[in-house]
Amino acid sequence: MSIMVKVEEKLYQNRYIVDENHPHIRIKSEAECKTCETQACTFCCPAACYSKNEAGTVTLATDGCLECGTCRVICQDKENIQWDYPRGGYGISYKFG
Ligand code: SF4
Ligand code: SF4
Repeated sequence: MSIMVKVEEKLYQNRYIVDENHPHIRIKSEAECKTCETQACTFCCPAACYSKNEAGTVTLATDGCLECGTCRVICQDKENIQWDYPRGGYGISYKFG
């Protein structure tokens, strides 16, 4: 017997406390994103924090970030992401269920 579980349903079990005006991840240069051939962050982030925008660059919303570090690794060639953990008391709290 197999049980299908959607990723979105599992992510919904987590809780996230937003640190208003203190995003823990920052894109250094939008111009750099415009020249980025793959813009891989827009499809590799499991929480869909990055999205392509009409200006041809990338918009980042760190709400819901899982702190997995994938974007940091993916952008290593360009070194265009400033990545830190959230301040104490903010960010993701994992739950099971
Ligand atoms: S991978 Fe890096 S340089 Fe490319 S679009 Fe994403 S943040 Fe910008
Ligand atoms: S750390 Fe992971 S979840 Fe957070 S923005 Fe980067 S890829 Fe997405």
